[in-house]
Amino acid sequence: MKTVLILGAGIGGIEIARELSINSGNEDNIHLLKIIVFEKEEQSVFSPSLPWLMVGKRKSDQIYKSTKNIEASGLEVVKGEIEIVDPENISVTVKDEEYKGDYMVVSLGVEQQAKYKLDEYGYNFFQLKGAEGFYAELERFTGGKIAVLIASLPYKSPAAPYEAAMLIQDYISNKGLSNKTEISIYTPEKEPMEFAGEEASSELKSLLMKKGIKYFSSHQITSATKNSLEFDDFENYSFDLLAFTPEHLSPAVIRKSNLAGKSGWIEVDELNMETAYPNVYAIGDIVDLTLESGTSLPKLGIFARSQAKIVAHNIGRKIGNKESNKTFNAEGEYFIESGEGKAIPAKGHFYTSSNEKVDLKTPDHWGHIKKWWSEKYWLFKNF
Ligand SMILES: Cc1cc2nc3c(=O)[nH]c(=O)nc-3n(C[C@H](O)[C@H](O)[C@H](O)COP(=O)(O)OP(=O)(O)OC[C@H]3O[C@@H](n4cnc5c(N)ncnc54)[C@H](O)[C@@H]3O)c2cc1C
Repeated sequence: MKTVLILGAGIGGIEIARELSINSGNEDNIHLLKIIVFEKEEQSVFSPSLPWLMVGKRKSDQIYKSTKNIEASGLEVVKGEIEIVDPENISVTVKDEEYKGDYMVVSLGVEQQAKYKLDEYGYNFFQLKGAEGFYAELERFTGGKIAVLIASLPYKSPAAPYEAAMLIQDYISNKGLSNKTEISIYTPEKEPMEFAGEEASSELKSLLMKKGIKYFSSHQITSATKNSLEFDDFENYSFDLLAFTPEHLSPAVIRKSNLAGKSGWIEVDELNMETAYPNVYAIGDIVDLTLESGTSLPKLGIFARSQAKIVAHNIGRKIGNKESNKTFNAEGEYFIESGEGKAIPAKGHFYTSSNEKVDLKTPDHWGHIKKWWSEKYWLFKNF
C-alpha cells in the first residue's frame, strides 16, 4: 500500500487529504491508500471568516473545528510540530519519530511574526485570538482613530485588510459613530491589490474613498508605540485602536530544509505543483509562483484548494502507472465583504498575459451569500 504524507491540516492539507481519500476508493475498514496528515494545532481555523469575527458577526467557536475530526477514510492525523522535512527521502520527523512516504505534499502555509511589538499595541487579525481581541475592544469603542495596518509584503489574502476596513466602517456606521471616527489603512503597497491590475485596483480604491476610509499607500512601518505608528516617511500617525497583518515568513522548518528556494518559499512547476524532488509537491501559501509579469501568485485559499485537487488527481494517476493529466490554471473566484450585507465578486485569472488579472464586480448581496455558503460548506463537509 502506498503512503502519502500531507504536511499541514489547513485549507490545502484538508482538501488534498479528502480528495485522496475519496478518489483512492478508501472506505471504512477498506484502506487502499495510507494518508498521514501532520498538524501542530488542535484547531483548524477557516481564516476567510476572521474578518467577520473582528466585527462580531461570528463567535470564534463557529469558525474552527478540531483537526482530530477531519472526515476521511484511511486518514491518520499525527499531532505535533514537524521538526525535519527531508524531500530526498520523502520523510518527516515529528517528536523524534521519522515517517516515510511514497509521496509528500507540503501545505504548511506561512509563519506569522509581529515585529515592532505590534502585538502589544494592537491586534493581529490574521489569527483567531487577534480577531477576537479586536472585537472585544471595538464593542467598547466610542469614537476616535482606527488604524488597519499592513506591516509588510507579501501577505496572504491581499484583499483581507480592505475587507476588514470596510466591515469596521459598516459596524461604526450602524453604531452611529461615523462622525466621531476616522478609519485609515496604512500599507507598503503602491495601490490596493496592485497585482490585480490598474482597473481592479482603482475600483477598490474608489470604493474605500466613497466609504470615507483613508488610504495611505507606500507607507512601510518602521516603529510603533502604544498609540502611534511611524513610517519610512518619518511621519507619526496616532491611533486608538489598531488591527494589523503581521510579517509573513516561510515556516522555519522549510527555510532550513532543501525545499526552500532563494526567497525561503518553495518553488514548484507552475502547472503540476511538483518541486525539484520527484513525488514531492507543494501547494497553497507556502509556494512562490512567479508570474510572467514578475509579481507572485496571490496567496489565497481558493488556489490552495484547486492546487490540492490537481495534485490529488495526479498522484492517483501515478499510483495507477498513468501519466499526470491535470494542470493548474490559476483561475478562481473569491468574494470581498464590503459591508451592508454585500460582497464584491472578484474573478482572478493569473496565467493570462494581460495586465488586468482580476475582474471586480459591483458589490452585491449574492456575493455575500456565496461567501457565507463557502464557509458553511467547508465546515460541514470536512469535519
Ligand atoms: C483574514 C484572512 C482572510 C482570508 N480570506 C480569504 C478569502 O476570502 N478567500 C480565500 O481564498 N482565501 C482567504 N484567505 C487566505 C487563506 O486562508 C489561505 O490562503 C489558506 O489558508 C492557505 O492554505 P494553506 O493550506 O496553504 O495554509 P494554512 O491554511 O495556513 O494551513 C497551514 C497549516 O500548517 C500547519 N503548520 C505550519 N507549520 C507546521 C509545522 N512545523 N508542523 C505541523 N504543522 C504546521 C499550520 O498550523 C496550519 O494548520 C484569508 C486569510 C486570512 C488570514
